[in-house]
Amino acid sequence: MTKTGEKFAIRTHCPYCALQCGMLIDGELNVAGDKSFPVNEGSLCVKGWTSTSLLRHRGRLLRPLARNARGELEPVSWEEALTRVAQAFRQTQEKYGRDAVGVLGGGSLTNEKAYLMGKFARVALGTANIDYNGRFCMSSAAAAQIKAFGVDRGLPFPLADIPRAEVILLAGGNPAETMPPVMRYFEAQRAAGGRLIVVDPRFSATAQAAAMHLKITPGADAALANGLLHILIRDGLVDRDYIAARTEGFGQVKSVAASYWPERVERITGVPEAQLVRAAHALGNARAAMILTARGAEQHAQGVNNALAYINLALALGSPGRPFSGYGAITGQGNGQGGREHGQKADQLPGYRRIDDPQARKHIAQVWGIDESELPRAGQSAYEMMDSFGQPGGVRALLALGFNFAVSAPNANHVIERLRSLDFLVVSDFFLSETANQADVVLPAAQWAEEEGTMTNLEGRVIRRRRAIDPPAGVLSDWQLLCELADRLGKRKYFAYANEREIFEELRRASKGGAADYYGVTYRKLEAGDGVFWPCPSEEHPGTPRLFAEKFHTPNGRARFHAVRHAAPSEEPDEEFPLYLTTGRALAHYQTGAQTRRVEKLNEMVNEAFAEIHPRLARRYGLLDGDEVTLATRRGVARFKVKLSTGIREDTIFAPFHWGGESSVNRLTNPALDPVSRMPEFKVCAVRVVK
Ligand code: SF4
Repeated sequence: MTKTGEKFAIRTHCPYCALQCGMLIDGELNVAGDKSFPVNEGSLCVKGWTSTSLLRHRGRLLRPLARNARGELEPVSWEEALTRVAQAFRQTQEKYGRDAVGVLGGGSLTNEKAYLMGKFARVALGTANIDYNGRFCMSSAAAAQIKAFGVDRGLPFPLADIPRAEVILLAGGNPAETMPPVMRYFEAQRAAGGRLIVVDPRFSATAQAAAMHLKITPGADAALANGLLHILIRDGLVDRDYIAARTEGFGQVKSVAASYWPERVERITGVPEAQLVRAAHALGNARAAMILTARGAEQHAQGVNNALAYINLALALGSPGRPFSGYGAITGQGNGQGGREHGQKADQLPGYRRIDDPQARKHIAQVWGIDESELPRAGQSAYEMMDSFGQPGGVRALLALGFNFAVSAPNANHVIERLRSLDFLVVSDFFLSETANQADVVLPAAQWAEEEGTMTNLEGRVIRRRRAIDPPAGVLSDWQLLCELADRLGKRKYFAYANEREIFEELRRASKGGAADYYGVTYRKLEAGDGVFWPCPSEEHPGTPRLFAEKFHTPNGRARFHAVRHAAPSEEPDEEFPLYLTTGRALAHYQTGAQTRRVEKLNEMVNEAFAEIHPRLARRYGLLDGDEVTLATRRGVARFKVKLSTGIREDTIFAPFHWGGESSVNRLTNPALDPVSRMPEFKVCAVRVVK
């Protein structure tokens, strides 16, 4: 507890994005920025300021709902709801096998809940089919970092390093809108004489704050990064000593980069040669260069290659592991980082262990008190699981916690059709989201300020989220729900926790010795400070804010270059669909808008889906600012309000993904998957304007 003015307030964190700004809440749900938390030092964006308005929102789910004989959702007791769920799961597994029940988790669940989800799927259900919506967010950058560095921590350095980087290249991110308080780090960098280069098809709010903007053709990131590398090699600006001492595989990358001469890269990326040379020289001449990527570069069917191409650039500059330098991926969702470390992904076990690693399986089976042979193998990734709903050999019954995939999945029409073919769907959420609205049983979940737990922010900093108020009567936290369900599935003894802290104690043991080692992170340590960076292998260990100073997490300690080539997006504009469509976020909303669309103040700012179109392109179709426009792709149509912008490329339309129904941009997006990360190609497809 902390004293703020006259009031005592609880120190906690914003429920939304991965910055996890520190905030103070009092019993009347007043909010103040927490000046003592170093990440935001009191700053909050409008989403954070208004976040408590949902705690007592009149539309909130307060009782379980179940579908009656008329097909309507009606209130039922917890006992009835849980019995129905357990029965449906049991019957489904008896008829179709264990993997016929699937589990999908959210990227904002606490570490405790993410861990318990993984254990629930594998121990209570014995299913291989568990995944989480970080698959749609961080999976390409994560896979690339593991390939190159042997470990994935979004930012392997604290945000505090940003102001001291001389040149930063940020590809496919718009933090000025998605997490505004982080911009103070970039502003400090500029004030110190540093330069920011932004790669984006739009002249976004972040690009406007940059020294240079590379207006890339959507889907051309690998070509751009290879082109910059070509110039660095040609002009003698790579760090040969670093490459020799700390990396392997540069030879092949050099050969590939040779074919990305500037004129060719200008043709592919649309970025003029002079700008390419200026950007490469700025990076190559900097004492401390930093390369950052976000979803614009990663949400592609070649997202892993795009991230690897940017990592190659960072390695050639001798940057990773050096002070105020390196490669990092900016995590988006609240616990997108922790959510992928504790076994919520189809191919992972807690501690960022691989599920196909015999040692990892043995360790986790021992912590969970089961035989290793009982642990399922890797299951399907999120989109593949959705595509299998109701199909022979696919998932027939599903539990979704805080994952509004009817809006967030690509090719949404198809996903909703599949969702309707499930035999049984149970959704736990705060509100009747578009996905919950399709469910057979809906369970009301406690919100962030009503429960204890830990989160891991975009820096890999584990922080404590404290309970500020009690949840309304009749509402359970998801960890309690999972324990109750496990009980009804005959697995109580594996889920006998009294509170969140007990789950965290087990998580610590499960992660011990893994890449994401939380063993030394304790609630006591988190109470005392501003978070602990993983890995933290013992209670005496202070945590690890900076990775790779001496070696990388590969078997020989060297980082690995990967020779990657540019490949065209799965779908390119043609006669029928002549334009690019790309998607992203707007300042006032978060993810599918299931929460933020219910906040009055945020709706006053933006209350309908819009399509950003260049005025010259709009003229071709006779469109004016504020007109309604219908966009079509091979997968569907959706309607938007026209927002004219001279900042966007003339061949590209941008639309945010915070709305469902007729304005769901994911009705249009392409589900082509990256072969490694299984990330869908959200960021580029071919579209046409329907007159
Ligand atoms: Fe919340 Fe992110 Fe805004 Fe901070 S930047 S207040 S964590 S939404």
